Amino acid sequence: MFFHVILTTQCNSECRYCFGEALEDVDEDFANIQVDYALPRKLNYDIGLLDELCKRDLECVMTFYGGEPMLCTDEIKRIMDHVSAKLFMVQTNGLLLDRLEPEYVNRFHTILVSIDGDEAMTDFYRGKGTFRKVTDNLRLIKRNGFEGELIARMTVMEQTDIYRQVRWLLDNDEYSFSSIHWQLNAGFWKNDFARRDFNQWSEDGYNPGIEKLVGYWVDYIETHGVVLRLYPFLGIAHSLLSGEEKSLLRCGGGWVNYAIQTDGNIVPCPTMWGMKDYYLGHINFSDPLKLKKIFVNEPCTSCNILGLCGGRCLYANITKRWSPEAYNLVCKTVQNLIESISKQVPRIQGLIEKGRIRLKDFEYLKHNGCEIIP
Ligand code: SF4
Ligand code: SF4
Repeated sequence: MFFHVILTTQCNSECRYCFGEALEDVDEDFANIQVDYALPRKLNYDIGLLDELCKRDLECVMTFYGGEPMLCTDEIKRIMDHVSAKLFMVQTNGLLLDRLEPEYVNRFHTILVSIDGDEAMTDFYRGKGTFRKVTDNLRLIKRNGFEGELIARMTVMEQTDIYRQVRWLLDNDEYSFSSIHWQLNAGFWKNDFARRDFNQWSEDGYNPGIEKLVGYWVDYIETHGVVLRLYPFLGIAHSLLSGEEKSLLRCGGGWVNYAIQTDGNIVPCPTMWGMKDYYLGHINFSDPLKLKKIFVNEPCTSCNILGLCGGRCLYANITKRWSPEAYNLVCKTVQNLIESISKQVPRIQGLIEKGRIRLKDFEYLKHNGCEIIP
């Protein structure tokens, strides 16, 4: 099992698509969903309970999450010292990575760091100076010996040229990433669609950009014999190449991946904090291997690409923040992604047959925080 351990609800950034949207959507509420807005700001249960949880599931993977988890370095150290998880990971905005001693940073199996592309792009979404501080910290942890996987987690929306920004992150003079994942800012807020231009951007910018990027990805495989770890491509291509019949929700939310709130209640994913109807257990008494499971519902259950898509996002599926027409545009991006990769499968298979690459090169640690479907 995978657990996001929410250490704090506080954050030291004010990003456009999170803090900014929250300011715009002040009057919004969840029609039929009760939300507990009074969660403790910091983890307030006995961390010995996390160890008991892991003792009942020897495959237990813990990902520190927030808010910004690096605001809680003391808790991170205590947990890493006393909890017998199989692996530890962290999802961070990267601004405070220099606060945690290398002996702990170097124990992370994976660090997912938020960065949206080059300096102008990242600072536009995340605030001036963010890019410089984050890349300084990444170079620092590498110098200090971090050898785990470092994944760039991009949030993308209308200002993003996906082809250009992913290419930039792969190869630049500041910090080049070998693993990249991205997620669309789509379907998370109630009132944002009307004031945005998601329609035109997704159709004229993002979708053609994805097709071009898939072409580049396969060209790179052909020329260099290397499968770049672009997670949305990796996940879909692996399913298509290995003949996987159908995938459940690829992020694992609600069936293999859960989040533990600061008060110890267990929810399907971190974005569902406080949603009382979706409390699936509690750290005090739940057996991690017997947690309640929850799956996506309509419109996904009648969708003809559910098997490959997996349902994209449980939170979006349950809360239905965007109208069906608006969300349909998101589904069109999923369809375009799958089609773009499917078209290249014969070429990839040919390269595998020639021994240029192996199917194994498309493998990854599933549910590692990359949702696969952006
Ligand atoms: S494409 Fe859309 S409707 Fe279909 S499974 Fe994915 S999220 Fe659900
Ligand atoms: S894709 Fe949706 S359900 Fe899955 S982790 Fe992200 S927000 Fe949660």
